[in-house]
Amino acid sequence: MNLTDYKEIRALLEKHGFRFSKSLGQNFLTAAWVPEDIAEAAGLDEQTGVLEIGPGVGCLTRELSRRAGKVVSVELDRSLRPVLAETLTGCENVEVVFGDILKQDLPALLDETMPGLRHVVCANLPYNVTTPVLTALLESGLFETVTVMIQREVARRICAALNTPDYGAFGVFVQWHAETELLFDVPPSCFVPQPKVTSSVIRLTRRAAPPVPVRDEDFLFRIVRAAFNQRRKTLINALASQVPGVTKEDVEKALAALGYDTRIRGEVLSLGGFAEISDKIPEIQNADL
Ligand code: SAM
Repeated sequence: MNLTDYKEIRALLEKHGFRFSKSLGQNFLTAAWVPEDIAEAAGLDEQTGVLEIGPGVGCLTRELSRRAGKVVSVELDRSLRPVLAETLTGCENVEVVFGDILKQDLPALLDETMPGLRHVVCANLPYNVTTPVLTALLESGLFETVTVMIQREVARRICAALNTPDYGAFGVFVQWHAETELLFDVPPSCFVPQPKVTSSVIRLTRRAAPPVPVRDEDFLFRIVRAAFNQRRKTLINALASQVPGVTKEDVEKALAALGYDTRIRGEVLSLGGFAEISDKIPEIQNADL
């Protein structure tokens, strides 16, 4: 069966009484080159265990199965159970887990299903949960790479360079945890139903260590979020108005001590810049005690 042939998919789905759900981000691929290229970009081999999120009818799952040691696919929509039972027949190294990816105990899942392998993620992500899913995957620190298709707009934000309109808090968070690559675009015509926007495939490669040392990561990300939450404001005003316990004077002194113009906005700061400011503010506060 050709799992990217629309006629075949439609017949299969009709046979099992399946209905597309918009709220589950169900846009299935109907161009064979796309799952092939995504699976190829994930860099798989026999020693790799792949976590897939949302197999749908299983077109990407089958490509992953051909290339990896083991594939574990987590699918929220239980009505796809009989469909996947049919389409994944013969894929001995695939295990489908029905449930919400956001509710999985990821370390336990990998231990139970793919022990002894190196772990990566490869998926055509449901767009409505892109941010929480990527956050959970990166914070888990369990995956060497995460190769995913997401909305182009979000992909651009994730991979954005500083001082560009796309640079923001989520991009800084992702780049803190991983090196980012924007690989290729996929037009709406490659899906059924067609989404309104273009998609992009990105690859995130886990960093062995944070890009720069920082004393308190939670404080760093509080600063980053505050800086971009009010990105038109100067950093001094954005932080003083949103980070409890931080005054304009603290930020001003920290910026001056580090040699920054005190009128800067967050969007001009690199990861290293945010890190040194997040270390310097408590230092200034302690010195003032
Ligand atoms: N992999 C298929 C493809 O490329 O054609 C389907 C991708 S479709 C964009 C997203 C899939 O994720 C759907 O099958 C949907 O049911 C599933 N899904 C949505 N939310 C989910 C969640 N929270 N956990 C697991 N799967 C989810």
